[in-house]
Amino acid sequence: MSRHVLVIGIDGVRADVLRKAHVPHITAIGEAGFWEDVRVDERNPTISAPVWASVASGVHRDRHGIDDNDLHNHHLDQYPDFLSRVRAHDAAATTFAAAAWAPLVTGAAGGPVFAPGGFRPDLPTGVEDGTDDAALAAIAVMDEVVTSRTARELLSRDHAAVFAYLLLPDMAAHAEGITDRYRAAIERADEQVGVLLAAIAARPRRSAEEWTVVVLTDHGHRDGGHHGGDSDAERTGWIAASGPGIDAGVVIGASQADVGVHALHVLGVAVPPGLDGRPWSATSTPPQTSSA
Ligand SMILES: [Zn+2]
Repeated sequence: MSRHVLVIGIDGVRADVLRKAHVPHITAIGEAGFWEDVRVDERNPTISAPVWASVASGVHRDRHGIDDNDLHNHHLDQYPDFLSRVRAHDAAATTFAAAAWAPLVTGAAGGPVFAPGGFRPDLPTGVEDGTDDAALAAIAVMDEVVTSRTARELLSRDHAAVFAYLLLPDMAAHAEGITDRYRAAIERADEQVGVLLAAIAARPRRSAEEWTVVVLTDHGHRDGGHHGGDSDAERTGWIAASGPGIDAGVVIGASQADVGVHALHVLGVAVPPGLDGRPWSATSTPPQTSSA
């Protein structure tokens, strides 16, 4: 069996809103493995770049050095993203990353978090970054392009590890808070998760492969939209994951910093000691109630 990992990041999806939404694909992943609310680690602010950097690198702000959405002077050279570690471990291995939000996959704002060679769709001509209707429509298109391109990569290439990222829910909440439009953006993101799962299912040698699939968010939002503070609404995230070593119904006590570390673990890539994240192996779960 060959092993592969897909991590899907969906920005700014409140855990309580997700639980009440119609999200059959995230639900199915959770039923095959786990779907837990997670606390954004206190070392990180509830801001996108610091948290996605923890997902990628397995360490928090005190070590990756990203305080906010300005990524300059980060320390990801010392704590590389898991895609880079996979390629460093095996020169024949390939990876893929795609995102509409530029700092994840390009040099914008001192990025990228996932280096190098990530895919970002072009912002449509005449659209400015922002949260007006035109910008939200453009981001919706960019998420579709990310989804279709990632699906093609999943179907036709043999990447060891893939990261795909969806932006619209976060921008919808910034635009107008926790509204029906926000809920619709979350349900749309779940449909895009379904597209990516269908691409994996259609792979010609799927029966000879073991796939780990992780879906998660970085932070929540206040009722009126926006994040960066310490309210439970902002600091409660969630992770859903399935794959080898994750028994259905297991209680993990997962952390966002575990994601990249677990990916390396299932792919047989040595994980350097001392990272904040840990793999989700059967021997590491469930956590002791008294553990730190
Ligand atoms: Zn975010």
